[in-house]
Amino acid sequence: MKFTATVVAALLVSGAACAQHFDVAVTVDDLPAHGELPPGMTRLGIAETTLQVFRQHGVKQAYGFVNAGKLDNAPDDARVLDAWRAAGQPLGNHTATHMGLSQAPSLAAWQADVIAGEAAVAQRMQGQDWHYLRLPYLDGGDRFAAAMAFLRARGYRLADVSLSFDDWAYADAYARCVTRGDQATIAAMKTQYLAAVDRSIAGMKADSQRVYGRVIPQVLLTHLGGWSAVTLPDVLQRLDRAGARYVTLQQAQADPAYAEPQGGTVIDRTAHGRGIRLDVQPPPEGSLDLQRVCR
Ligand SMILES: [Zn+2]
Repeated sequence: MKFTATVVAALLVSGAACAQHFDVAVTVDDLPAHGELPPGMTRLGIAETTLQVFRQHGVKQAYGFVNAGKLDNAPDDARVLDAWRAAGQPLGNHTATHMGLSQAPSLAAWQADVIAGEAAVAQRMQGQDWHYLRLPYLDGGDRFAAAMAFLRARGYRLADVSLSFDDWAYADAYARCVTRGDQATIAAMKTQYLAAVDRSIAGMKADSQRVYGRVIPQVLLTHLGGWSAVTLPDVLQRLDRAGARYVTLQQAQADPAYAEPQGGTVIDRTAHGRGIRLDVQPPPEGSLDLQRVCR
């Protein structure tokens, strides 16, 4: 009897440990506009919804990474950047045209795209710390060391990533399904996506324990689009439930796990570098083909 009670107590303790707190810095890419715009939404409305959900969940800081070149053809979208700042949230650079480092015609062309992305951010961040760059596509590659030397000389740090839910993969499919009024497919997409969010959070915890022996502070990557905005309340509810505590990017990246920035995501590349194999789950059977739905 006594032994059973001890086992039960041990199980309760380990159950409580599952909900242990972990730190998360939230970042949002592709401001002012990610993916196709679903009918009935505006870019400003998407930003305001996103900012409101952050407030409701106690996300005190969310860096918004800007592709300033998108303003050339849509100057009104500058209001998105202004709304971000009016909500007290900081902006950083994501290059003017979302140019991948290894895909760029040359390193010089990529550097020029970084510089072209600066003015729209700097003018809205006067006296504030805006020298963060998020690599488009998290694309590092062979030019990474040279690019980092250039960035450091301009005062930049890299905004790393440890956690993402592939919200980008749903953006255009969602816009098509809204256009068609296909509520059944939208519901199926949400079920699939939120199940993947739960698996990603659980997988992150397991992978982090395996690689570091602890759950490291997280840097979450999301995007500023229609799909991401409508699913954000459910995503943050799941993070809250899993033990997330929201911190700044500076706080998260002060952890030694972020000492050597690179392309890709931090837990995966550290595991790879140390020869640690992580479980890679195949997509569940019956997953929607997001390229084909609502065509
Ligand atoms: Zn991006």
